[in-house]
Amino acid sequence: MVGASLMLFLLLLITRWPVLERAFGQDRLVAWHKKVAPWSIWLIVAHVLLIVTANALEANAAWLAGIGVVVGKYPGIVPAIAGLLAMVAAGLTSWRRLRGRLRHETWWTVHLFTYVGVVLAFFHQVVAGDTFSKGASRTFWVALYALVLGLIVWNRLLVPAVRSARHRLVVTDVVRESDDVVSVWMTGRNLARLRLQPGQFLNFRFRHRGLAYEAHPFSVSAADGDRLRITVKALGDASTALAGIPQGTGVTFEGPYGAMTPARVEGSRYILIAGGVGIGPIVSLAQGLTSHDAVVDVVYRASLPEDLVLTDELRKLETEGTLRLHLLAGPRTIHPLSPEHLSSLLGDFTDATVFVCGPESLNMRVTESARALGVPSSRIHSEVFDL
Ligand SMILES: Cc1cc2nc3c(=O)[nH]c(=O)nc-3n(C[C@H](O)[C@H](O)[C@H](O)COP(=O)(O)OP(=O)(O)OC[C@H]3O[C@@H](n4cnc5c(N)ncnc54)[C@H](O)[C@@H]3O)c2cc1C
Repeated sequence: MVGASLMLFLLLLITRWPVLERAFGQDRLVAWHKKVAPWSIWLIVAHVLLIVTANALEANAAWLAGIGVVVGKYPGIVPAIAGLLAMVAAGLTSWRRLRGRLRHETWWTVHLFTYVGVVLAFFHQVVAGDTFSKGASRTFWVALYALVLGLIVWNRLLVPAVRSARHRLVVTDVVRESDDVVSVWMTGRNLARLRLQPGQFLNFRFRHRGLAYEAHPFSVSAADGDRLRITVKALGDASTALAGIPQGTGVTFEGPYGAMTPARVEGSRYILIAGGVGIGPIVSLAQGLTSHDAVVDVVYRASLPEDLVLTDELRKLETEGTLRLHLLAGPRTIHPLSPEHLSSLLGDFTDATVFVCGPESLNMRVTESARALGVPSSRIHSEVFDL
């Protein structure tokens, strides 16, 4: 029962329910999902092993024969076993050592079957055993499943389908920013209704060969009326293919998501730190913060000067006097982002809100340094480009 409850909880975390998304941000919700998932699966596996063992002992049969005893004795066990296999497959393919070797699409497809697995396993819970097979407990359990699965269908299927149809996003232009980074401009109808906040991202599915199967998250690096832009680094199949995407390609999307927005600012100064292509949401945040009555610093790290992109826009804001720009190209030995380095670059941090977006190592480094410089954790907001 605890295992199944945890399974519902971890599904709730990824329902994309706006209440949770706004409060915690998707990366944190996904991190909790990853932490809870193994416990749920281990408990469910333990439940199966214990039930089979108990029934084998009771029938004085071999352990494997116990499976037959359970199947014969309780209704709904065969679909439950199929459900268990789907959950175990999702767990195994998410195991760090295995996941690194799999294509993201393969991992995602296996994960999709977990939903089928959860539904298959549900039936034996309400027809077999005593706990949820009758009365108020049964109604409660069915309602819990209906709520979580309803939230998934609503937020992950219906709302995105309606929004995509309503806003009719299409690709209008692809601009090369550096050797391996492009910006993709899209236009749509009534984008203001999306209430997209600077710093947020959407899950885009481009209706083009090789790109339509899976949605990919990209932060919006500029939004201008009914146009929006994403800035994409070529890392794998999909992100590389975007460089050659034709004008007029239709785009469906989920979102907007992300809690790294101007709503999070506190204090008298805002420090925005980007690493690599993490500059996308930071540029849009910087634009969104210029109207605030505070000092805005943008620190932009890259290994090589030619990797720095969107700098014209940042320089323009600097010329207008709305932000101070610190371009840090070069090795980590020169730009360690340590507490000493950051305080010599930016001064006092104690009244700052810090936003950081880049590779996980940079996010961790900046978070540690900001804490050491007296910024409370509640004022440090980060986003990693990996879920
Ligand atoms: C919240 C968020 C915002 C992001 N914003 C940007 C951005 O503005 N610009 C940018 O260049 N990149 C961004 N990314 C990263 C981008 O989503 C991946 O680089 C892209 O999906 C890689 O897909 P691929 O097929 O090219 O590469 P693959 O070789 O398939 O994967 C490369 C890496 O991306 C991850 N990845 C692949 N597909 C997905 C997916 N569908 N969902 C989540 N992760 C995936 C993989 O786990 C792997 O770590 C963002 C990621 C997240 C989670």
